[in-house]
Amino acid sequence: MSPLSPRNLREKCFCVTNVADVTPRDPILEGMFKLRVLSEWTCQGCQQVHTAQPQDETGLQLQITSPAGPNTTIQSFVEAYFSDVVIDAECERCKSRSNRRRVRTINAPPEVLFIQLQRFERDYNISTGRFTTSKITKDVPFGQWLDLSRFAQSQTFRHPGSLRYKLSSVVAHQGTLNNGHYIAFGQGPQGVLKYNDSRVTKSSLSEMLHPSNDFTPYILTYTICESTTANAETTRTVAMEAVPH
Ligand SMILES: [Zn+2]
Repeated sequence: MSPLSPRNLREKCFCVTNVADVTPRDPILEGMFKLRVLSEWTCQGCQQVHTAQPQDETGLQLQITSPAGPNTTIQSFVEAYFSDVVIDAECERCKSRSNRRRVRTINAPPEVLFIQLQRFERDYNISTGRFTTSKITKDVPFGQWLDLSRFAQSQTFRHPGSLRYKLSSVVAHQGTLNNGHYIAFGQGPQGVLKYNDSRVTKSSLSEMLHPSNDFTPYILTYTICESTTANAETTRTVAMEAVPH
């Protein structure tokens, strides 16, 4: 029985990234898992481009909206993560203050990309006067391939296919917020394998993409394609040199 909570999830599913957390200076681990995101906004008054310090993320944490929400596929949630947001900011150059459009881009891509589908929703119950948290079981279709090139900071790598990832594993959860069960799928040279406690059985890409018995995909792991690794390495090197630490 495994309660579905961020802390539990981190303990159970992010053990590898925990290793990365405790050894942040290890360049190999850092390069494998860290997604460096850059935020920029342009002042409409003087056209000054404001660039924030790049932030290192352990993959993409995507907030899944309720069934009535506009987003449906993994791509739409990724686009929402990188889409423009309006912020209230003062321009250091011309001192004007107004709403600005902030854009996030990938400054340095990871070799292994974690995507966490955050399926938590808080609702206020008028009768009890309390907030309740529930699990969103909404279907969020995802595929074997994920192309992030359109979100790359460097224009050089924004053409389609230049930053492509392949699905390598899926962690899925069955049950409620308070209890349930996790299984995992892994794709490798032996095909797709299904890990259910101590049992490891042959599975399929179809089942990996659409787990049965009400299992909802929760953690997706994508590995950068070899054909794009060279480009990504170049991107990373260029980005590191271009942005002060
Ligand atoms: Zn300005």
